[in-house]
Amino acid sequence: MTTSHYIAGRWVEGQGSDCISVNDPALGQPFAEFMAASVDQVDQAVAAARSALPAWKTTSASERAAYLRGFAEQLGQRREALITLQMRNNGKPRHEAEIDLDDAIATFTYYAELAEQLPSKNRDVPLAVPGFSARTRLEPVGVVGLIVPWNFPLVTSAWKLAPALAAGCTVVLKPSEVTPLIEQAYGQIADALRLPAGVLNIVNGKAETGAALSSHNGLDKLSFTGSNSVGSQVMRSASAQCRPVTLELGGKSAIVVFDDCDVDQAVEWIVAGITWNAGQMCSATSRLLVQDGIADALLPRLQAALNNLRVGNPLTEEIDMGPLTSQAQWLKVASYFATAREEGLQCLVGGKALDRDGWFVSPTLYADVPKGSRLWTEEIFGPVLCARRFASEEQAIAEANDSRFGLVATVCSADLERAERVADALEVGHVWINSVQAVFVETSWGGTKGSGIGRELGPRGLSAYQSVKHVTRCLG
Ligand code: NAD
Repeated sequence: MTTSHYIAGRWVEGQGSDCISVNDPALGQPFAEFMAASVDQVDQAVAAARSALPAWKTTSASERAAYLRGFAEQLGQRREALITLQMRNNGKPRHEAEIDLDDAIATFTYYAELAEQLPSKNRDVPLAVPGFSARTRLEPVGVVGLIVPWNFPLVTSAWKLAPALAAGCTVVLKPSEVTPLIEQAYGQIADALRLPAGVLNIVNGKAETGAALSSHNGLDKLSFTGSNSVGSQVMRSASAQCRPVTLELGGKSAIVVFDDCDVDQAVEWIVAGITWNAGQMCSATSRLLVQDGIADALLPRLQAALNNLRVGNPLTEEIDMGPLTSQAQWLKVASYFATAREEGLQCLVGGKALDRDGWFVSPTLYADVPKGSRLWTEEIFGPVLCARRFASEEQAIAEANDSRFGLVATVCSADLERAERVADALEVGHVWINSVQAVFVETSWGGTKGSGIGRELGPRGLSAYQSVKHVTRCLG
């Protein structure tokens, strides 16, 4: 792997100073390395996107839709390679890697359909005042910088790339340095489809490369997914240039279980919400609020279910949960185990790293966690669940909403009227009722409060890459 950056339709070697090591987290060992892009190369990528913009934004919507369908088809052709790479580099169990690939394919297909509908959205606007006509034009925002994290590399990039290209934007994508090989597929697909040079550029690198992109004055918009600390730096760069920004940030989401639930079903939802992708989900439901009447029956079964999960190497073992994706993440989760010990939290299961090679931790459950605990309030980004009991619906809503984040929540109840009422009262961007982590491309994704600005997916995901122009004419 030397030519790892895709700029102006060509694969080039990195000229930056950072060496990027690509690791297998189940072994804790690197399997590839290459040099990051330099600041100059970020410049070149933005310049390539700028020079490709005039032609790309005037292609017909159906032409762009054909490219997007091509992306969907080509992802399908690379199915086995991309699934294996996600298992190897992310540590994802096979069925999770498959779902990610299918999600990316569905995203390109969906935005191809929306692109085909674009011409009918450019409409005449009826006016109350006679003597004038007015029409709306939806135009691409322009050159967009896309910065993404490592936890769902194929998916997070697809959620940005597909609507941006559908809208007629040109892009510079910066994948995470932790999983930089997976998104190379998008460059290879651009090559295979003969996407015009410069429409899609990919620069790999660490913080320096990300900062060079987010502070670049040649961008018209930034769309960032990642941590709150980096998100606020990206927002600062955007604000310095009064540039629009979409931010998809962290979460500390609640799962609220009422006492009319089937215990086994509730346990299944709770486990999935905290152990899928080894808990490395912005949308992990890591705060369990369980009603008094069911808590004593539920907690022991939850403890047993977490204890019984098969944790291991997705490439060599039958597993339910893989390792954490990076050593940095493993150290971070371990530091929360230490904090839990210092705080004297009641650990019902796990609370430790596994004694084997690789970056493994046990699925973990702490019970009766005080509201002031760092484990209750901070995003851990691992399979670490904290539980508290509640008495009333009002208390559950108040405790769920008592967070600086507002990404998602899950409500489990046999009383659907109550579940809908609670869903409406929760201060988050997405609520699941009696289901877990199901994200459909037609809906929307994004958070309230500290979880971000803007929405991805659905029609709003496309609007994020469009600007609105009205043309008003005096009929004389
Ligand atoms: P991160 O913020 O460390 O990195 C995200 C991206 O930003 C990476 O590509 C990184 O190289 C780049 N970056 C780092 N420093 C930068 C800088 N100074 N300027 C510009 N770019 C920079 O996040 P991560 O550890 O990769 O991902 C985990 C975080 O992402 C979690 O907080 C998680 O909740 C969040 N996340 C949110 C969503 C969502 O949809 N809301 C989805 C996935 C992940």
